[in-house]
Amino acid sequence: MPKKCPPSAKHAEPAVKLSARGVARLQARHPWVYRSDVVEANDVPPGAVVRVLDQRGKFLGTALYSSSSQIAIRMISHGSVADLPALVAERIRAAIAYRKENDLVRNTDAYRIVFSEADFLPGLIVDRYNDVLSVQILTQAMDAAPVREAVLQTLCDELQPAGIVERVDARIRELEQLPPRQSGLLWGEKSSTVINMNGVRFHCDGLEGQKTGAFLDQRENYAAAAQYAHGEALDAFCYQGGFALHLALALHPAAKCSSVTGVDSSRPALEMAEKNALLNGRELEWIEANAFDLLREYAAAGRRYDTIVLDPPAFAKTKRDLEKALGGYKELNLRALKMLRPGGILVTCSCSFHVSTADFLKVLAAAAQDAHKSLRVVENRGAAKDHPILLNVPETSYLKCLILSVSN
Ligand code: SAH
Repeated sequence: MPKKCPPSAKHAEPAVKLSARGVARLQARHPWVYRSDVVEANDVPPGAVVRVLDQRGKFLGTALYSSSSQIAIRMISHGSVADLPALVAERIRAAIAYRKENDLVRNTDAYRIVFSEADFLPGLIVDRYNDVLSVQILTQAMDAAPVREAVLQTLCDELQPAGIVERVDARIRELEQLPPRQSGLLWGEKSSTVINMNGVRFHCDGLEGQKTGAFLDQRENYAAAAQYAHGEALDAFCYQGGFALHLALALHPAAKCSSVTGVDSSRPALEMAEKNALLNGRELEWIEANAFDLLREYAAAGRRYDTIVLDPPAFAKTKRDLEKALGGYKELNLRALKMLRPGGILVTCSCSFHVSTADFLKVLAAAAQDAHKSLRVVENRGAAKDHPILLNVPETSYLKCLILSVSN
């Protein structure tokens, strides 16, 4: 007769025990528990699938463990997980279905397919650029070979891409104590393509540029901005021309810009912006400059605009930067407000998670006061719907985009 398994061998996965505070976080439906709230984690290998227990040993669910991150565990299920690669495949299919069934991605062949925690796949990001997919892996558990295989196989089966590239964030791999890797093609032969967002075309090289190539989270904001933009327009921090081209192409019957100027400090970004303009049969003015200096100069010289877009990089990377960041946003918006004609439109963004919508509105109100102007909120917007916000996980909500109408 076969011997019965001893009770200790019943669960193959290692277990971690949490403090009461860690348990409370999970009960509040936040998937992260910090290392300081893990009270016991014996012999847990990096990237392991772990059973999560409270201090008395009660089972709370299953998580992915990181041996190096301050975020020691990321919950992946409130039940048991027998086969992580199979679960990842199922969640990817669910993320694709969520976008399809709710009709979240209209008028575009470029959008986010998997947004990490917000699609219940902590540490995995997948973006679609037409026929090229871009994958980012941010945690030890997602980097395991069987999980990587499941990701590739599922994406190939579901979306039949011409290429899948991996964008590596070297700093994150170092933080997660993962061996260094190069960005590169994971599957197929194609890594660059042309995308079409809202009827505007962009070159996209999956292995170059910032983020995974484009700022897909701004896609719906481009179209919204194009609805109100008119007259002389300035796109500050324009990158590869996302807003500028939408404004120049007069996509909305009511909108008409007589001129559009894009400003960025990155020459490669502007070279791509120029190529993108040509792809759409336009020639715009692109200026390589520090946008802070340029706005100060232009404001002092009495330049006027009818539409200004401000989409700077995140000023507050950590909570400690908050005060300084708010000062930066105020200064920038004040300069823009000084240059906007009555009836003008300010499209102003912040992608700093640590700056809340309430903080940002306060800063804009203070800038309006200093500029002696009144602002009406035309639209208060966030990231495109393919970047879902998971309530109870504030980190999934980071982008603010205010469209304001200026009066004297
Ligand atoms: N609006 C863009 C994204 C902007 S990202 C889009 O929708 O695609 C922020 C941009 O600001 C980057 O392109 C970066 O090169 C640029 N940047 C950063 N600091 C800058 C500065 N001081 N002056 C001008 N551009 C700057």
